[in-house]
Amino acid sequence: MPPKASPLLCSATRKDGQPCEAVATRSGLCLAHDPGLETKRQQARRRGGQNKARIARLAKLIPPRLMGVYDILEEALGEVHRGELTPQQATAMAALAGAMVRVLMSGEVEQRVRALEEWQASSNGSRPK
Ligand SMILES: [Zn+2]
Repeated sequence: MPPKASPLLCSATRKDGQPCEAVATRSGLCLAHDPGLETKRQQARRRGGQNKARIARLAKLIPPRLMGVYDILEEALGEVHRGELTPQQATAMAALAGAMVRVLMSGEVEQRVRALEEWQASSNGSRPK
């Protein structure tokens, strides 16, 4: 069945001249081509921009060792959604990632306690002015 024969596909033409093959809404156009949804698209773009800035700020707070784990989990979310990964596999990944976070966190707490103890020993317990 050629794509254009399906009523479920967008009837608009893409910028490159090819037919749009995105899934259409009841208007017969996809979310990107439906002119009635321009306001919603603008809102979504603004939210996307805000989220990106917030994610970039938060990413600076994540221990570097965990950045790769976060990316893998984010990918796994899409894979479960598309049926490429079983929920059981994703659950196992989340459990392992949680264990990694706990190990790294305990190491970080230990490091901070040591730094505080060293600071206290070198300053003879007196607080800096
Ligand atoms: Zn379209």
